[in-house]
Amino acid sequence: MFLIKDDFWQVKRTKEKGLGIFAKKGIEAGTIIGDYLGKVIETARYDFNNDKDGLYLMYYTDEASIYPNLKKPGIHLLNHSCAPNCWIYTYQYHTLFFALRNIKPTEELTISYLLSPKGKSCNPCKHICKCNSKFCTGTMHLSKDKYKKWQKFQDNQNNKKAAKPQVIFNKNLPKLTSYPKIIPTNPTIISLFFPHG
Ligand SMILES: [Zn+2]
Ligand SMILES: [Zn+2]
Repeated sequence: MFLIKDDFWQVKRTKEKGLGIFAKKGIEAGTIIGDYLGKVIETARYDFNNDKDGLYLMYYTDEASIYPNLKKPGIHLLNHSCAPNCWIYTYQYHTLFFALRNIKPTEELTISYLLSPKGKSCNPCKHICKCNSKFCTGTMHLSKDKYKKWQKFQDNQNNKKAAKPQVIFNKNLPKLTSYPKIIPTNPTIISLFFPHG
């Protein structure tokens, strides 16, 4: 679900990455782009073999994931970039996407998929990155080192104050009654992912 107004974004077809979300107006750093909503499913029962790319499944709790409604446009359409202009913030167990910096009109909104380092199951790996940024590693997988640092960072800030939700499988995750106004960029994110500026 988008939390920016409809006239701030549009769906457009990209050259190499399928559909993407593009800014129609300038979006200020810290603005919440949306909440990753969808059906609550049991991660252990999810059939990854039937999922062509497996990139829509979002972590919810240790046993549950969120699967978005692919028939509707939503923030699940943000493409991966090695130098994304949006980032994720976990708030009351919901995954919010927010603008990491000021985004200009016509820019594509991008996020890092933060995939774990390439394992044996990822063979052949389909997670090739075509973001064309100067930080492009050619893959959506993080290096072992970056992944470790990211997990540590997440563990330290995640859900600290939130009560664990009551998980109801096969129901849609309802939106929150309220959202933070702005999400400040954490310098750790910048130093972890953009060490060269
Ligand atoms: Zn892969
Ligand atoms: Zn890339």
